[in-house]
Amino acid sequence: MSQPGANHKAQEGLFGQEVELSVPKQIVPVLLPIPMDEPYSYQVPDDMDLKIGDFIKVPLGARTAIGVVWDGECEAVAPKKLRQVIEQLYCPPMSEEMRKLVDWVADYTLSPAGMVMRMVLSVPEALAYEEPVPALVYNHKPIDRMTSAREKVLSIVKDGEIWSRKGLSELAGVSMGVIDGMIEQGCFDQGELPPPLVVADPDPNHAPSILEAEQQEAADQLIEDVKTKDFACTVLHGVTGSGKTEVYFEAIAACLRQGKEVLILNPEIALTSVFMDRFEHRFGAYPAQWHSAVSKKKRERTWRQINEGRIKVVVGARSALFLPFKNLGLIIVDEEHDTSYKQEEKVFYNARDMAVVRGHIEKCAVILASATPSIETRVNANHGRYQKTVLSKRYSEAQLPSLKAIDMRKFPPARGEFLSPKLIIEMKKTIAAGEQAMLFLNRRGYAPLTLCRGCGHRFECENCSAWLVEHRYKKTLNCHHCGHVQKTEESCPSCGALDHLVACGPGVERIAEETSKTFPDARVIVLSSDMGGGIKRLRMELEAIAKGEADIIIGTQLIAKGHNFPLITCVGVVDADLGLANGDPRAAERTFQLLAQVTGRAGRAGGDAIGLLQTYSPEHPALDAIIKKDEERFYEREIDLRERAALPPFGRLAALIISAEQPRLAQEYSTMLRQRALNAEGVRIMGPAEAPLFQVRGRYRYRLLVQSPKNFNLSAYLKAWLDAVPKVRGSLRVQVDVDPISFN
Ligand code: ADP
Ligand code: ZN
Repeated sequence: MSQPGANHKAQEGLFGQEVELSVPKQIVPVLLPIPMDEPYSYQVPDDMDLKIGDFIKVPLGARTAIGVVWDGECEAVAPKKLRQVIEQLYCPPMSEEMRKLVDWVADYTLSPAGMVMRMVLSVPEALAYEEPVPALVYNHKPIDRMTSAREKVLSIVKDGEIWSRKGLSELAGVSMGVIDGMIEQGCFDQGELPPPLVVADPDPNHAPSILEAEQQEAADQLIEDVKTKDFACTVLHGVTGSGKTEVYFEAIAACLRQGKEVLILNPEIALTSVFMDRFEHRFGAYPAQWHSAVSKKKRERTWRQINEGRIKVVVGARSALFLPFKNLGLIIVDEEHDTSYKQEEKVFYNARDMAVVRGHIEKCAVILASATPSIETRVNANHGRYQKTVLSKRYSEAQLPSLKAIDMRKFPPARGEFLSPKLIIEMKKTIAAGEQAMLFLNRRGYAPLTLCRGCGHRFECENCSAWLVEHRYKKTLNCHHCGHVQKTEESCPSCGALDHLVACGPGVERIAEETSKTFPDARVIVLSSDMGGGIKRLRMELEAIAKGEADIIIGTQLIAKGHNFPLITCVGVVDADLGLANGDPRAAERTFQLLAQVTGRAGRAGGDAIGLLQTYSPEHPALDAIIKKDEERFYEREIDLRERAALPPFGRLAALIISAEQPRLAQEYSTMLRQRALNAEGVRIMGPAEAPLFQVRGRYRYRLLVQSPKNFNLSAYLKAWLDAVPKVRGSLRVQVDVDPISFN
């Protein structure tokens, strides 16, 4: 151990008996998965030999906890209070790279290191010892009665490998009884096999695709990155359907050939089995999956086997970033611009950015793939911090859809409806041709606001500053911020008037209602995250759509991404202006990305396809650029705006969210924070201001926004500032959001 004063074992005394020395025995710092910044000190029993990174079990209060032996100084503890390590766990230690990642993320996000550790140790059960499988070793003793079944078995086992009972019977094509009979005859000695892998090993040479010239060029560059075995980050920028996945599969193959491991982050992975099937098709085996829909037992085994270095490829959501790989050679961040990479609770981190950090630490290749890379990533590529490779056209003959705006001022929908006659005509043509139409509206439920025509009363959440969204199908009013649900009402709770309540604006349910009325014979499927039935149902619906079992698909965000619907040739965006109106500096970029992605669902299987955007402001730069397919000019302009405002990535931002159950408490604390802000050149502080979502879950929220120059250590600045002010008490809470992407 590195710390001074440690490792003073009891020594042999003059007469052979043990003498206790007065110096302390070995003490180690242990990082535990609890909200603490620093490791705790524990005493190591004499007969235990611990190294940095070892997983151990220790007492913690009245319970026990699993932690990791950390490096650095031990915190001083009165000898009487010093407690002993209970047990060293039987598994490979945490790598130095992983420990660096934990410390790095904690420092950067101003989170307690223990909370980052909690994300790493997400399934502590994985650290329990897993029994090996009893196995058979052929011992070449002569057999007295030979049968053809036994001969089959012998032909397999003669090379002396170790077999499981079941594996052997399956491979030999004989019944379990045959194997058991041979065991009774004494043909086998007992052996042990490691527990079976959750997935078979992928084969890099199983079924490579033949790449087009442009694809091959991109693949070659990525393969080169993998081969250099050092950090390199490459942006894979390709329009929807250009074959990004096919291309990065070749980088995965190169990594596997080196015997190294691959992590693929994909925000949609829980939803779609298409990716899994494509992977299996290419590599002859499935990758391991990591997301919330994977059962706990499965995650437990997956984690353990990754920690043992036995799993080669994992595809997962955000949280897969913290899996304990042993020899990582490649990290792929698919849909790198996706905002779901940002976690906005407990530890506020962006998995895309932290993936690049992990790539640095692990000295491995990183690929950021997207059809619409984020401005941050584009600027990094423009400035040479990342490399870039471009796929400029769709694979094969497939064309991108032609895009048109529908000016809703000129072609308004019928009264009380939301689809323009222009859109309806296109949809009719599509359905008549036996193809599918898709309508996109990023709003769940029936209507975002319910209002009393009599007194003007609006239904609002009692815990949040937000309107209640009507879900007509479930007959409820829901808050999409805190989950509050109440029954829909017949009369106005404020003036008591009957039949005066009106739904304002559309959600997907309302669009579905209108669609069914307009297209009475069409088969309509609605996809939204709150339709019930969970991920299973969604997957089934997605498969049904791909098979042509629907004419019109209506959906939220869920249908925008990743899915491959070969029959869709017409996409209608019900409200292309939604999302442009808020004060978010990334609003235009988001809209561009979303619309590119949504309209990109059309025409993936070749043939003519069309995307129609309903808008009241067709001249808005984001819409104009989408329609003219002038991505370059749009991003140039956006990047220029960002640069002039010193917004990310040309400057840095951090948000402090101060909340409490009493609004005054939150306000006073934020004012105090502001007054005691440290002076630093180029740092600007805005606020405190009431958050746009002032009340959430019964807590009142204020925001401070800190803006700094680009090469400024914002995390260190925030830490120094927050360390110097009185600690929060009572219901007060301060959340730090470095590099915020939402401002509500
Ligand atoms: P992206 O990820 O860029 O949207 P995909 O990798 O999903 O693109 O490719 C789009 C479609 O084209 C997929 O069905 C894929 O199988 C097919 N495809 C792309 N490139 C090739 C290739 N070189 N050989 C065979 N099929 C390809
Ligand atoms: Zn609420």
